[in-house]
Amino acid sequence: MNYFSTNNFDHKVGLKEAVIKGLASDQGLYMPETIPSLSAEFFARLSTLSFREIGYEIIGALFSEDLTPGQIRELVDHTLEFDAPLVPIQEEIYSLELFHGPTLAFKDFGARFCSKLMSMLQDRGELKVLVATSGDTGSAVANGFYGVDGVEVIILYPSGKVSDLQERQFTTLGGNIRALEVDGVFDDCQQMVKKAFLDPDLNRSMTLTSANSINIARWIPQCLYYFYAWSRLPRSDKKVVFAVPSGNFGNLAAGILAERMGLPISCFVAATNINKVVPDYLNGAPFAAKPSLQTISNSMDVGNPSNFYRLLALFGNEESLLRDKVRGYFYTNEQTRQAMRAVKRETDYIMDPHGAVAYLGLKDFMHKAPGLFQGVFLETAHPGKFRNVVEETLELELALPERLQAFLQREKKSEKMANDYEAFKNYLLKS
Ligand SMILES: *Cc1c(COP(=O)(O)O)cnc(C)c1O
Repeated sequence: MNYFSTNNFDHKVGLKEAVIKGLASDQGLYMPETIPSLSAEFFARLSTLSFREIGYEIIGALFSEDLTPGQIRELVDHTLEFDAPLVPIQEEIYSLELFHGPTLAFKDFGARFCSKLMSMLQDRGELKVLVATSGDTGSAVANGFYGVDGVEVIILYPSGKVSDLQERQFTTLGGNIRALEVDGVFDDCQQMVKKAFLDPDLNRSMTLTSANSINIARWIPQCLYYFYAWSRLPRSDKKVVFAVPSGNFGNLAAGILAERMGLPISCFVAATNINKVVPDYLNGAPFAAKPSLQTISNSMDVGNPSNFYRLLALFGNEESLLRDKVRGYFYTNEQTRQAMRAVKRETDYIMDPHGAVAYLGLKDFMHKAPGLFQGVFLETAHPGKFRNVVEETLELELALPERLQAFLQREKKSEKMANDYEAFKNYLLKS
């Protein structure tokens, strides 16, 4: 399979180049050249398959030209080491819990797949993985790559703008994981990383790669849990809608990839906090990146979502098709908190602020067509990851899962970095 760039559909590369380069030289994102369609027979037996069995078939359909059946099994087994339960919350509303992995957030799926695939594709020398994070990417990538031979991970994050717990999950591991605390916002970190990949001086002296959601090896495996969730919905004549809490829009784009492979999803809800450039676009405005604003769902505080052009490419750049399939909704902190309180009061279920944004979008969407849909919202993080917000909103004390608790006991090790590309470049050249 070849992969084309969203900036030039004729610019194509093979799997290894797409994964190791991460970003195309024209700054576009890679996309699979053909999207395989799965058979009706496959969908008919989907509900009898385990999560991993679903994974073998989907990953097989996408990667069988480049990987052996053994490699595909190994990749899927490593990625799907934990479940993604579908939990009924209210009538026809389900929470897809994606937080049962090592760092308790959905990014564990992509990070685990990515580290395994990179180690399969790399033949020699040291790889440097550069990651810009607004929180959870850093922890998922750090944990996914920790201890992987021949790979060094350098994480850039905005100083003071990620929660203490998130920070500890990528600053306390040591070993092949290093953390740079940048005096700026997430978009500054992302810009520095993007610039480094295009820098000829750096590329002459080292192999740089990305593990951001732009990398197809992080992006593609996220389609798996849409198939799995769909297969676990009670049988019904109703149409299916998925609501995705979105920042860089990789997760939503992966859901659309599943739909393009034939999964019968009738509609998507793109739900954001007040960083709402995509909902604005979906509601008719031109796409216009903006500086990001801080919110209580801080993993979605993104003003220039990097997967936007991937969304478009999935529809052959037909804007009307994208606007037809995806509905945009956005919510303030206060609305998010109110939803968290209402759901706790009515059902005893505790949502994290990101899941709550998606829940709100789902409710508002379904309210317009009562009785027509089964709805799934993606619960992208364990509420304990955003403990302060959850506790203060719900006025309760959360028991922190042991896996998270352990991080708090470890010592933070990070290096300060100015918001200055040259300083970052020198750091890379010296390290
Ligand atoms: C990263 C993240 C998101 C946003 O996902 P995108 O794929 O960037 O849209 C949502 N919720 C949580 C908890 C996250 O960590």
